[in-house]
Amino acid sequence: MKNLYDVIIIGLGVMGTAALWRAVSKATRVLGIEASGPTHSYGSSQGESRIFRRAYWEGAKYLPLLNHADLLWNELERLTQRQLIFRTGGLFVGHGSSRIIAGSIKTAKEGKIEHEVWSGERVKQAFPSFDLKNEMTAVFEPGAYALSACDARLGMLNEAIRTGAVAQFGDRVVSLENHRLGVKVLTLSGHTYIAKSTIITTGPWITNRFIPSVGNFLEPRQVPIFWFKPKKHYESAFSLEKFPVFLYELKDGSILYGAPSISKAEPGIKIGFHNRQQLTSSPNWNNQPVKQAYSDEISKTIETLFSGLDPQPIKAKNCFYTVSPDESFLIGKIQSLNSSYFASACSGHGFKFAPAIGDALANLATGQRPEVSLSAFSPDRFGSTSPR
Ligand SMILES: Cc1cc2nc3c(=O)[nH]c(=O)nc-3n(C[C@H](O)[C@H](O)[C@H](O)COP(=O)(O)OP(=O)(O)OC[C@H]3O[C@@H](n4cnc5c(N)ncnc54)[C@H](O)[C@@H]3O)c2cc1C
Repeated sequence: MKNLYDVIIIGLGVMGTAALWRAVSKATRVLGIEASGPTHSYGSSQGESRIFRRAYWEGAKYLPLLNHADLLWNELERLTQRQLIFRTGGLFVGHGSSRIIAGSIKTAKEGKIEHEVWSGERVKQAFPSFDLKNEMTAVFEPGAYALSACDARLGMLNEAIRTGAVAQFGDRVVSLENHRLGVKVLTLSGHTYIAKSTIITTGPWITNRFIPSVGNFLEPRQVPIFWFKPKKHYESAFSLEKFPVFLYELKDGSILYGAPSISKAEPGIKIGFHNRQQLTSSPNWNNQPVKQAYSDEISKTIETLFSGLDPQPIKAKNCFYTVSPDESFLIGKIQSLNSSYFASACSGHGFKFAPAIGDALANLATGQRPEVSLSAFSPDRFGSTSPR
């Protein structure tokens, strides 16, 4: 049967692309279907850079996936022969008792991850671009890095296609139905495919249409992100060699994050508030402009924390998070469909995990045991009723 595939992956953001790359070595016929193009500015995977860190303040449960993802990012870099990993180190700043400090130290100790606990004074010596008060504390993880997000995603896509996967762009899956051989996949342009297994990675579009049981646990949220230019004579303090990826917990619990510019396509230093999330009724294909109040707020924060940056953002953009009630991931089996799995709700921190999640999904879809268990991320943890 011409249209029969072992695995069909629906939605080629970073999760779907990773699943495509990992599935191709485990199955003979693998197809990815993406509503938009190979790169686009919708959803969550757009942009040039992402942070990779393992002293994960969010908890040690993420460590097995992080370790596997680290191996796979390095493997991808070798395969593509392009620099995807920029070893900047990671600085996680907060007050002594903050979640970020306590959590990063706890996970680093548990995972035996190289780290140092620094005073504000020590941070200023190492990274003068941070205007840190002496009473602040920081955890420095030398092995943390900035990932080249666009190149990494395209690298996985190229590797998948080079080794036999098929990718169909510009077509939207509109329905999934059980079929005697697996699942029937229907697209907007009228194509029908049969999959022995499907993997659904449609990010904020993982609507009730595909997975009614999970829709209640997801919220698509719009989040603003900004870029700043160093002031004259401060350029070198914000260079790739001198400016680490960072998280910075403020007194009110807000988390600021940022990364140096790692590509010519990136207009400056990328900084955003993780917590400025606006619920949207549905993720809109046309991104709306960033609210002025968010720009004003971040300008004020930059003035206090990074006096070497011009506080006026040179660019502002909205992006999407798909958020679960506990801000962890939702990954599991789709009970209503034959041999089908999904990963979504990466709650604004999923990119770094993508190859490990993709690999585990590909194993499940081909009847193998995942190398790293995904059970901690099952929606079963919420019980049967929606917590919202
Ligand atoms: C501003 C910002 C900064 C972030 N920073 C970090 C970071 O530093 N580190 C980190 O680890 N994570 C970070 N994240 C989170 C990370 O980027 C996301 O967790 C990840 O990109 C989610 O990818 P996804 O593939 O699940 O979803 P998406 O990227 O949204 O992909 C879903 C895809 O499905 C397609 N699609 C939708 N419906 C259909 C359909 N019916 N048929 C076919 N295709 C369909 C869409 O077009 C889209 O391409 C950040 C996110 C944002 C927004």
